[in-house]
Amino acid sequence: MKSYNAHTHKIPDNHIGIFHSDGKYTASLFSVGVHPWDTEMKSVKEIIPAINHPNCRAVGEIGLDRLKGPSMEIQRAVLLDQLKLSNELKKPVIFHIVRAWDEFYSYIKPHQNTPWIIHGFNSPKQYSQILQTNVMLSLGPSSLKNPHMQSILKQIPLNRLLLETDDTLIDIVQVYHDFSIATGHPIGVVYSQIEQNFLAIFGT
Ligand SMILES: [Zn+2]
Repeated sequence: MKSYNAHTHKIPDNHIGIFHSDGKYTASLFSVGVHPWDTEMKSVKEIIPAINHPNCRAVGEIGLDRLKGPSMEIQRAVLLDQLKLSNELKKPVIFHIVRAWDEFYSYIKPHQNTPWIIHGFNSPKQYSQILQTNVMLSLGPSSLKNPHMQSILKQIPLNRLLLETDDTLIDIVQVYHDFSIATGHPIGVVYSQIEQNFLAIFGT
């Protein structure tokens, strides 16, 4: 069974994954974007060559972070530029959202024309609202470890789910395994549904 990793900071060796590229790496599937923390020192122009590469399967991680990074005004402007780009290039978007959920929801209707993924979803209080959107939830090691997420993990419809390792060194196989244990979904079911979701969003 093949494992699929929706967001990783380590170049995948034994599985298929979307590597978070700085724009220089293009050798396997990757995403590229100006992270909200970097919106003051990095410009959207810098990611343009990489974003047009056929291995670039998503714009990200991009978003809003109220706890870290430049002012919301700067973050917002850079985010909106990149959302425009994602729609022009028809690329999915991988989001980093911290304490800016209302603003995120307000962008769905005017700006979402491709699949959107919340990476490292770990906000139990947002679950019921996000379920009403068509945004995908990608879970990583910290989501699976969070005691407040446990009852939610079992409720997430499998067709809305992706798995990731993010910036950890944990094997993606372990993330599949931990998700299966936490939810009671048979591991084979998890593998086949994630494969279907991943390929539908990022292609092969
Ligand atoms: Zn990350």
